[in-house]
Parts: sequence; structure tokens; C-alpha cells
Amino acid sequence: MNVDKRRCPANHACPAVRICPTRAISQIGGGLPRIDRAKCVDCGKCVRFCPMGAIGK
Ligand code: SF4
Repeated sequence: MNVDKRRCPANHACPAVRICPTRAISQIGGGLPRIDRAKCVDCGKCVRFCPMGAIGK
């Protein structure tokens, strides 16, 4: 998965960070979340959690 910086306002705590089963999503402050491709297994949970539709393939 990837985070689309055109959709994410990067101004809040990302709700997807805590639901990722492999802890692939990290975020510094309320900035743009980053997804570690080496950890992500493309389960899709974060896609459903992002209210802005900013996470996808
Ligand atoms: S697709 Fe699944 S494993 Fe990958 S970042 Fe999202 S929640 Fe984590």
C-alpha cells in the first residue's frame, strides 16, 4: 500500500497506524504516514480505516 499525499491532509494522528497488523505504518507527529513496503503484506485493513481514501495501491 501507499499513502497518496494529495488526499492526506497530514494534519492529524492517522487512525490506520494502530490497526496495521504488521506495524508497517509509521507517522511522525501528525505528518504524512509512511508505509514500510518490507513489512506491509497488502492486507487492506488500512484502506478501510482511512476516512480520506488516501491509502491504496
Ligand atoms: S495493507 Fe495491511 S499490512 Fe499493509 S500497511 Fe495496510 S494495514 Fe499494514
